[in-house]
Amino acid sequence: MQANVLTAFIGNRQEKIKVFPTRKDVKPFRLDSKMLRRAFPFLVASAMVFTACSDGKEQKSENKDIKKDTTEVKAQTPEVTLEQVKWGKIYQQVVKQYGLDGLHDKIPLSVQEINELINTPQDVVPNDSNFNHLPASQENFWEIVKGGIAVVQDIQKDSTLSENIKQMYQQKTIEALSKINKAKWNNKEVDLNSYNTLHAFIFFEKLLKYQDDFEMIFHNKAGWIDEQKEFFGRYYQDHLDFEEQAKNYPGIELFAKALYANTERFIVEAKDSAYANALSNKMFEEWRCAQNISEENVCAYTDAEKSSYVNTTVYNNKRGYLVGISLDIDPKGQIETPDGLDYLPVGLIKMHEMQHILALAAKSYEKPEHNYIASEKSELNDLQGLNDNYVELGPTLYTLVYSDRVYKAINKIDRDSEVDYGVNIQVSNNSVPLGKIANWFGKMMEKYPSKSVDKILQKKEVLEQINAWGIDKHELPLMNMNNFEVSR
Ligand SMILES: [Zn+2]
Repeated sequence: MQANVLTAFIGNRQEKIKVFPTRKDVKPFRLDSKMLRRAFPFLVASAMVFTACSDGKEQKSENKDIKKDTTEVKAQTPEVTLEQVKWGKIYQQVVKQYGLDGLHDKIPLSVQEINELINTPQDVVPNDSNFNHLPASQENFWEIVKGGIAVVQDIQKDSTLSENIKQMYQQKTIEALSKINKAKWNNKEVDLNSYNTLHAFIFFEKLLKYQDDFEMIFHNKAGWIDEQKEFFGRYYQDHLDFEEQAKNYPGIELFAKALYANTERFIVEAKDSAYANALSNKMFEEWRCAQNISEENVCAYTDAEKSSYVNTTVYNNKRGYLVGISLDIDPKGQIETPDGLDYLPVGLIKMHEMQHILALAAKSYEKPEHNYIASEKSELNDLQGLNDNYVELGPTLYTLVYSDRVYKAINKIDRDSEVDYGVNIQVSNNSVPLGKIANWFGKMMEKYPSKSVDKILQKKEVLEQINAWGIDKHELPLMNMNNFEVSR
């Protein structure tokens, strides 16, 4: 219901009607179209900072040394207020946090460009009200971004909103604009594939859709992961690269499917859960720190026996819906399998699901050409796109390696020895012992250290071994057999 009202509003700004029956702090109200269309500058303080940043000789090279720009600001405007310093710092923080000055082939928007965007009256009426979370083109990207800025400009005039809320809108807008990347080789155009750019697109789309519904835009609850979390989609390009390579090895998909489907890979027994949960949580914390994931509330806790959504990541990146993932974990480590409830040490569940989130695109799987299809006509909500078998391979191998380590710790077994679990992964006429797979991938993780599991999977040695385990050995004469190791 609310979505329909807002969609109508976006299509026609003359008829602005706000209906937020669930809001406690804001009563429903109406603003006339003249007020809406009247341009006014917002972020006066930050504008001063940004103008100073891009002043004089630094103007043409503001991207090259952002730290130097900051020094220039301080030198030129010694009497800046605390407010000015605060807004200016947001840009620096985003650039630092997201490593935007360290990207090899990309550059962030400059402070001058951001300054112009936020201070220019954005009198745009977006044509695209489909909210499918994927920019179709440069024009479409800017239409959404500028439309979102217009919303924030309007909000600054809204007398019913508190100063804190207005400030939050301002701050998040600067952050989102700071995340937009351009390719170095074509710095006129935004890099529409960059996960940072996609984060920004989603944010401005949300502004358009939810306007002054603060809760919907800044949705912040335990277990909810959306574009405001830096790690959402961080390695998705690695995953796409892996899928591209894996297509050349027919055995990989077969092996991945057989491994994931085999519920006997949950080798740690529930009777050891007290120790296993504690140890695996320690492993998860180490992994989380190594990944620079600082958020504490990435998981919510749910009872597997009561909730049908436990231990699953729910992908809400459907047209018109909030973009994000709800990560609900059973604190005891229970997981749902086709055979009922099974057990996996709880820290390893978190690690596994988080790996999916790192590799998931912060965008819709719909294609750009679907952008202007009305959502009610679209049959695209059941999204096609990534291959589930490939998506599961990295996190499942990772989970297996760590499960094997937990098992060995419980049973005081040397980390390098191969445990005979009496479980084999069967593909065609190959049968590979689970303990062997765990030891082998553990070695590959050490040999090719990477924070992104899809990068490890792309190593030639890894691709070939998994393919060899997955392919029918009678087909091997067609392939290069020299590097294959087939277990029977
Ligand atoms: Zn999974």
